[in-house]
Amino acid sequence: MSASPPSAELSARARGGMVGLAVCDALGTSVEFCARGSFPPVTDLRGGGPFDLLPGQYTDDTAMALASAFVLLDSGWRSDPHHAAALLDAYAEWWRSGHWSPNARCFDIGRTVSAALRVYAGHADDLSSRDAWLARAMAGDADDDRRSGNGSLMKVLPHLLASAAAVATAPDPATAATRVIAAAVDASRLTHPSAIASDCISIYGMMVFGALLGYETDAAALMPDADGTPYTLPGLDPSKVWASLCEPVRSMLATRAYATAMPDESGDPGEAITASGYVLKSLEAAMWALNHANGSFERGATLAVNLGDDADTVGAIYGALAGTLFGEAAIPESWRSELAHAALLAAVGEWLVAMPSLDADVGALTSENAGATAADALLRVVESGYHAIYNKFSPGPGPPCVWPGGYPSTDAMQTDVDAKLTAAFAAAADAEPGYDSGVHDCILATFSKQAAADKAILERALRARPARTSLLGAIKLAKSS
Ligand SMILES: [Mg+2]
Repeated sequence: MSASPPSAELSARARGGMVGLAVCDALGTSVEFCARGSFPPVTDLRGGGPFDLLPGQYTDDTAMALASAFVLLDSGWRSDPHHAAALLDAYAEWWRSGHWSPNARCFDIGRTVSAALRVYAGHADDLSSRDAWLARAMAGDADDDRRSGNGSLMKVLPHLLASAAAVATAPDPATAATRVIAAAVDASRLTHPSAIASDCISIYGMMVFGALLGYETDAAALMPDADGTPYTLPGLDPSKVWASLCEPVRSMLATRAYATAMPDESGDPGEAITASGYVLKSLEAAMWALNHANGSFERGATLAVNLGDDADTVGAIYGALAGTLFGEAAIPESWRSELAHAALLAAVGEWLVAMPSLDADVGALTSENAGATAADALLRVVESGYHAIYNKFSPGPGPPCVWPGGYPSTDAMQTDVDAKLTAAFAAAADAEPGYDSGVHDCILATFSKQAAADKAILERALRARPARTSLLGAIKLAKSS
């Protein structure tokens, strides 16, 4: 089974998802914690808010999603203590150092997230105790309703995008998507263990995949049925999905406020929709905004964030889904051009969908099953990733794109990638007064590790195919077949 390069449509939706998440986070933070109606309506990126940000700067929602994304890109995801520790280490690093934040400071962290990170840190000195805690955490605690904040949903998108090209080309995409969603739930439980938070991710994940895989192209199709049964990918049994949900989630779906609460002239839906930090209300509000967006990313975004209160997170939850549905080009250009790290966010979406999965049943390339076609498919995945790097981070015309196939060895490829990225970031720093290199330094370190990981994967794949004794030979054969 082999991974395929993502289609242009899939890439555009993934880019839209990451940019949509961040841009609505940045729109919403201007009125975060403000009561609805107490502020001039948000129509543009204007910064300010409780953290006094610059226009286009995003908050913890996007920073944590980026931290997740780079863990996924670096080492993939399995629901095991090793990967869980990598994820929580990345969150802790963001909390400690501000990595992934647009101003290199962690200026806001949710209570549930910080509590989970403190418990995790308490296990730092004893690996077996730490791993046991991580395994228990991923199993969840269905009755712990207190930990049902929207910090679960705000950072889940990268887990859904990861390996989506493999999902799209799997023999049974719906079942493959279900496995990815279940793995995303496991990751979410590390910070938010409740059944309510888990079920919200299941519902949301299904909608994201309906949009991402191109099954649905309008919001109405992603909404629950008249009886509240949530959107289900073609080929799955909706009644089984309904039966799996806990009562509070069923009740929200069946009440249908996301459909029936009509926005008035100012966009106010009345009391039926609130933008609280409770994940069920945040999801309901994001669904309401999408349902009344009339096909416009911008309209839905302003409906979401002008609810006030937890505006940035409701915005992020709406923006990730709406950006995936409508695609990057549907997000207003003026917003994209002002958004911090917009090119990085878009590229991350593209890289995530192209990465191989560690789950063999998703249609993956694993170290265990790297077989007859693995080298060819991995080369395409690596090509796609580096193509994105060169296009996004080479200022101006830049150095010509050199495919991995053009290198004489994997060592040469890694050395060249490192050198080009370093040069590109240095040029960006020169070109932009006040340029904050913190995030890019972190990206550089991550990609250096990514190049080493790619090299190791390629070499493993080539070893599994003794007839192809060199990278160059494998590439030549792949291109001629
Ligand atoms: Mg936030």
